[in-house]
Amino acid sequence: MTTTSRICTRCQTQIADDEQCPTCLAEFATRRDPREMTTAERLAEFDSWFLADLPEISNSRVAARVAELVGHPVHPLDVGTREGRRDLRHEIVSR
Ligand SMILES: [Zn+2]
Repeated sequence: MTTTSRICTRCQTQIADDEQCPTCLAEFATRRDPREMTTAERLAEFDSWFLADLPEISNSRVAARVAELVGHPVHPLDVGTREGRRDLRHEIVSR
């Protein structure tokens, strides 16, 4: 059986087609406390999770991290739509 590989859209790590990116998963596991991050840092991380159509880590992990970056629980549907993400991003900017 041949395993094909691809490049993570977020961090450019080469990974197997059918796996979540271990580099991004490790980054998620060691994520920083948003209270110790600047607005620019929180925005940059927020944007980084949405570079691909499908997240390189699970949707639930992305939603959990977005909630941390925004500072309150978020609805997964809001994270999954362009309009929802625009509003959440605006919250980070204006906080
Ligand atoms: Zn990655």
